[in-house]
Parts: sequence; structure tokens; C-alpha cells
Amino acid sequence: MKSLKVKSHKITQGTKEWADSNINLYYGCSNNCRYCYAKKMAIRFKRKTKVTWKIMEPNLKNIKRQYGKRKGRVMFPTSHDITEETLNTCLIVLEKLVNAGNEILITSKPVLACIKTICERFRDKKELIQFRFTITSYNNDRLKFWEPDAPSFEERFETLKYAYKKGFKTSISIEPFLDKDPYVLVERLKPYVTESIWIGKMNYIKSTNIQEENRDFYNAIRGIIAKENLTKILNKSLDYFNSFLRIKDSVYNYLYS
Ligand code: SF4
Repeated sequence: MKSLKVKSHKITQGTKEWADSNINLYYGCSNNCRYCYAKKMAIRFKRKTKVTWKIMEPNLKNIKRQYGKRKGRVMFPTSHDITEETLNTCLIVLEKLVNAGNEILITSKPVLACIKTICERFRDKKELIQFRFTITSYNNDRLKFWEPDAPSFEERFETLKYAYKKGFKTSISIEPFLDKDPYVLVERLKPYVTESIWIGKMNYIKSTNIQEENRDFYNAIRGIIAKENLTKILNKSLDYFNSFLRIKDSVYNYLYS
């Protein structure tokens, strides 16, 4: 029987698993995901409310500042998204980061038109950019519930194919995975991925109101993040050993700490 060597696995936290630093240009995010950690923190520290989270307010200090060459990879953005509303500002700052020679991980639940513009603008700087598109399910009902104002599965998939065909480095975040078996999605997306596919679990569902708002989705996600299901997912990851597949620390943390 296959067994997992988890003892040697080094646990890291949050965005540090992917990059050395991160940059955000807005407070709030119009995608308004129900599981959003940034939203939870903004509400806890009274920077936003449940209602105002989806209103994106510019962080003028970060927009106007100059950016030099940073140590390691820069993740952008992490607590808002690149939407038609924020695109122009994001382009200005991306330009500054690229001109300073930074390696950038662009994370997004992608809007096709926005990514097309970025691909066009930085077509000569591909070596500095890697896209990491978040695609958490192939099922639009699930997406609509958990990520109410984010693009559909089809739009995100089309965007992935587009960036891949344009010769950019592409990777995927299936975090939090919303289908019981995330490998269905892995198999569908992998032909268009040049770097990695990451699977991570949903956290903090107890602190949301999902249980009262929609019992079906609540029960479904409880089954999805149940230890038996996570163990199955970890075991299956051995079929992809030494390949593009990565399991996020959120899964190891939950199972082994
Ligand atoms: S896209 Fe990210 S930052 Fe925006 S609401 Fe969803 S989880 Fe939060």
C-alpha cells in the first residue's frame, strides 16, 4: 500500500507558500467570495463590513509609490482581483514592477478581457510573469454560491487557454476545492498548465453563516473537507508524484497538526 511521508513536509503559512512578498492596490474585492480570509480580517478589524467588502477602494499609497527590485517573487494581487474596474491601475503598477525586473506571480479569478490586455502589454516580458488562475470547480452553481461575482468556469478556462497559447507561464490554484474530487478539474486543466496545479482546502467555514444560509452547500462542503476525503486526495496525489501537482499546506495542517 502506498504511504505518504509527511514528517519531512515543511509547513509554511499563507501567501509565503507561493511568494516572498505581495502587493495590493485596493481595499475590498468585488468577487465577494463567501470563504474569503481577507474579508474576514477586514470585518474583524472594522476596516470593512459584510456589505462594503465588495466595494473596492483604492490604496493610493501603494498605487502611487515607486517599486524597486524586490528579493524573490512578488505575488499580485492577494486581497482583491484584476477586474475591468481595477485593470488600468493594475497595469500601471505591474509596469513599475516589471520595469524594476521583478518576478511576478499574477493571481486572479480571471476575466478574459483583462488577461488579454496584460498578455498584450507584457508580451516581451513573459519570462518575468507567471499567471496563477484560481479555478475552484467546474460547476457554475457551486462557483455562483461560493464566489458570487467572480467569472464563470468557462471564462476562467478560456483565459487559461489564452495565456497558455500566448506563451506565458501558467499555473492553477484549486483552493479551496469545491468539488468532492478535485482531480476531475486537474485532468481537464492540465493540458494548459506549464508550471503547477495546487490543491488546497477551505478554512474557517465555522465562522461563516453558510449553515443558516444554505444547508445543502454547507453539508456538501463538510463532506468535501472531511478527513476521509482529504486523505483520499492526498493518497491520489502520489499518482502525480514528481509532477506539476502540489498539495497546499492547509491540507497537511488539517490532517497532521
Ligand atoms: S477573489 Fe480573493 S480576495 Fe477577492 S473576495 Fe475572493 S477570496 Fe477574497
